[in-house]
Amino acid sequence: MPVYAEKVKGKRMTKQRRVIKEILCNSKSHPTAEAIYVEARKRLPDISLGTVYRNLQVLLEENSIMELNYGKGFSRFDGNIMPHYHFVCQDCGRVYDVDAPVCNEIMAIAANKISGQVNFHRLEFYGRCQNCVEKFGPLNTKTN
Ligand code: ZN
Ligand code: MN
Repeated sequence: MPVYAEKVKGKRMTKQRRVIKEILCNSKSHPTAEAIYVEARKRLPDISLGTVYRNLQVLLEENSIMELNYGKGFSRFDGNIMPHYHFVCQDCGRVYDVDAPVCNEIMAIAANKISGQVNFHRLEFYGRCQNCVEKFGPLNTKTN
C-alpha cells in the first residue's frame, strides 16, 4: 500500500477509535458492540460493525477499555478501567456500576489458596433492577 494511503487509513482508524472510546466513556450502560455501532454511526455514518469490533479489540489490547463477558454470545464494554463491581439485571440484562469499595482482602485470601499468581478479581451481583421491579414487582425468592 502506498505511504499516502497508509496515512489516510491510519488517520481514519484513529478517529474511529477515539469516537468509540468517547462513546464508552460517556455511557453508563456498558453497551454491547452493536449498541456502540448504533451510537458511532450517528457521528461516523460510514463506519461498519466489523470496524467497531476491530477497534474494540485494539482498545482492549491497549488496556484502555474493559470487556465484561457474560458468556451469552456477546460482551459488554466499559470505558472505566478502574476496578469496580457490577450489578446485572436477570430480567433486562442491563449492567449497572456498583458504587461499593473494592474488597482487596479477597485478593489476599485467594492468593493464599492458589499456588499461582492472582492478578485481579471480578465480582458481579445478580438480581432485578429498579426498572424491572417497577414493571414486574419484586423477585420471588421463595423456593417452591
Ligand atoms: Zn432490569
Ligand atoms: Mn462499569
